[in-house]
Amino acid sequence: MNVDLLLRNARLASGCDCVDLAIKDGLIVAIAPQIRCEAVETEDLEGAFAFPGFVDSHIHLDKACILQRCTICAGTLEEAVRETARAKVDFTEEDVFQRASKLVEKAILHGTNRMRTFVEIDPRVGMQSFSAIKRVRQHYAAAIDIQICAFAQEGLTQEPETGAMLDAALSSGADLIGGCPYTDAHPREHVRAIFALARKHDVDVDFHLDFSLDPEKTDLPAVIEATRQNGYAGRVSIGHVTNLSALSRDALLQVGRTMAEAGIALTVLPATDLFLMGREYASHVPRGIAPAHLLAKLGVQTSIATNNVLNPFTPFGDASLARMSNLYANVMQLCRDEDIETVFAMVSAQAAAILGTPHTLRVGGKADLVVLDATDPCDAVRSAAPAMAGWKNGRKTFTRPKPRLLSQSS
Ligand SMILES: [Zn+2]
Repeated sequence: MNVDLLLRNARLASGCDCVDLAIKDGLIVAIAPQIRCEAVETEDLEGAFAFPGFVDSHIHLDKACILQRCTICAGTLEEAVRETARAKVDFTEEDVFQRASKLVEKAILHGTNRMRTFVEIDPRVGMQSFSAIKRVRQHYAAAIDIQICAFAQEGLTQEPETGAMLDAALSSGADLIGGCPYTDAHPREHVRAIFALARKHDVDVDFHLDFSLDPEKTDLPAVIEATRQNGYAGRVSIGHVTNLSALSRDALLQVGRTMAEAGIALTVLPATDLFLMGREYASHVPRGIAPAHLLAKLGVQTSIATNNVLNPFTPFGDASLARMSNLYANVMQLCRDEDIETVFAMVSAQAAAILGTPHTLRVGGKADLVVLDATDPCDAVRSAAPAMAGWKNGRKTFTRPKPRLLSQSS
């Protein structure tokens, strides 16, 4: 057998022996211990953990890296929406392209090879961010698959032009539609309008939802109802839903069972939720992160994602999902291997399922893989393991060699 690339000594799962992967024409053609073949190129992974790559199911490339243009005083959600709306007026296509490109490059270097980015489309910014993100998707297509979610961050019913613009975006390259009922004066109508556009274009739906600590203030019943009415089970995601963190365990499990039954996925955004929630508390500040791992046990599709980077929603970040999974596990006080493995799935296989993209290393499958400086998924989460190399369609997309300590002997 002649192959293009032979990767030796990869560890694909916890407690398993190392295997070799043979790659030809962008596909994996063999996975076995000590493969004997002619290879154009051979690389020894020295027992490192290899998997299909991190999947960021919720990021905002268009408004990343604008911290210097904004003022953060209160650190609240309202302030973040207001400050970003103000900064957005001055966005240009080239400006968005440059900032988004910088962040996508960071994500690739951290081992992410699939992502869903929200892009705000409204009268303030027009179609400029959307045009820029389409260019970014094209520019980095060899290294990362980018889904574009046309997003109504600032309401819909009070700004009818936004609906027409989202409609146009869905006809010209957007992959799905995103709504935000909490910024709309009429949340139920907002949900209905988003579903109507989704049905018209036959695309999935992703809502920013219930971003508070008040379980009484919820748009989830409206989303569940619309999901059922429109036959959209398995095509709806909701992000944040921080008020789930304020529910009793029984009430939480009841919501989880309803979501699993309705086919609604949940994405938590730990960095943003931790930064914005609980500002009204002077002590014993609540964490404000929905316990997604508990809902995963009930069959809810769940993911952990980056959300914002260096802006008033999250003045931190580097698009590393290894770091984000570590943050979630730590804040949620998890320790058992079983739970940590669930957390890893939430930045990889589970997140891929939400995006509707395959995520396995198998013979006959695409040679999309990432190697981490870790032995298995648990080790990757516990140590926030750095990515060391990645391939997409069999082509190497990045390398980040392991740092080496210089000899200490004189
Ligand atoms: Zn978001």
